[in-house]
Amino acid sequence: MSEKTPKVSKPTRFEQQWQYRPAEPIRTSPLFELPLNIKSIVLWIANRWFVFGENVIVVGLAVLTWFYLQPPLEQTQQLEFGWIAKMYVRNFVLICLVAGGLHYLLHVRKSQGEKLKFDPRELKDKGKKYSFNNQLRDNIFWTLASGVFFWTAYEALMLWSMANGYVPKLLWSEHPIWFVLLFFLSNLWISFHFYWIHRFLHWPPMYKLAHALHHRNTNIGPWSGFSMHPIEHLLFLSSVLIHWIVAAHPIHIIYHLQHQALTAATSHAGFENFLIKDKQRLALGNFHHQMHHRYFDCNYGNLEVPWDKLFGSFHDGTNGSHEEFLSQRRKRLV
Ligand SMILES: [Zn+2]
Ligand SMILES: [Zn+2]
Repeated sequence: MSEKTPKVSKPTRFEQQWQYRPAEPIRTSPLFELPLNIKSIVLWIANRWFVFGENVIVVGLAVLTWFYLQPPLEQTQQLEFGWIAKMYVRNFVLICLVAGGLHYLLHVRKSQGEKLKFDPRELKDKGKKYSFNNQLRDNIFWTLASGVFFWTAYEALMLWSMANGYVPKLLWSEHPIWFVLLFFLSNLWISFHFYWIHRFLHWPPMYKLAHALHHRNTNIGPWSGFSMHPIEHLLFLSSVLIHWIVAAHPIHIIYHLQHQALTAATSHAGFENFLIKDKQRLALGNFHHQMHHRYFDCNYGNLEVPWDKLFGSFHDGTNGSHEEFLSQRRKRLV
């Protein structure tokens, strides 16, 4: 008799749904893990702030915007159509470059083929659930018509308030360390705020009224990230109102809102990393939020502030975690 061939286990349904999954379980920020692991914290921060990545790019962009593309505070003292319209056009162009550029390279030109693409499905969905019966047109419309409007409105409100002394202003010359630290803290606040706003949006009446629009996309692309209902834009971008209390420089305001809008495009890119000649050049989407779009009831927050872990809604991208979710769902239905 021949030896028994080792049994190869059939891929689970969860595994079949994904073309690419990270090899390791998804990790959340070690900043909130006890006991504190200093080495992990340093590595986590270094990987986000001391490499060429979205944080560094958006800080650079915010600085450039402030010096070259933003009306000075003297001008923003009066609410006038002219300077607000210029900011609207600038933000419109920025999101078109980021979301449009990524969509073109990754999903039209397919610059890296299927490499590091989470969902095997193509981004060509059509159907009545979308505005204009087409996913891409739907996503572009809500991003530009509602998203850029609220982004600009919050920016104009904050800079008008600052110019008139209604909100406190932080100066580089007086508090240089705090000035730098505030970029890092902004991301933590954004993550903290996002979880709670997002949980609220999953409350059935709010889901039906507003959030269902963002969840039309079970397979996501760069234009899906900032494609939201106006009510969701109003809530999602309200994180910047923290600067009514916490003093900031206009650069922090611009950074905060650019980060919210532009990294929504990168985080929904559908790919984990942007490859150039097969080398990973820029971290993009994460499997964590990609699963939220597919399964709805997991991963409401992001990885910076791990509320999901605390409230039992964290899916770490493994088979075991998925089984756990399915059994929880079955229990809820009983
Ligand atoms: Zn959601
Ligand atoms: Zn999303």
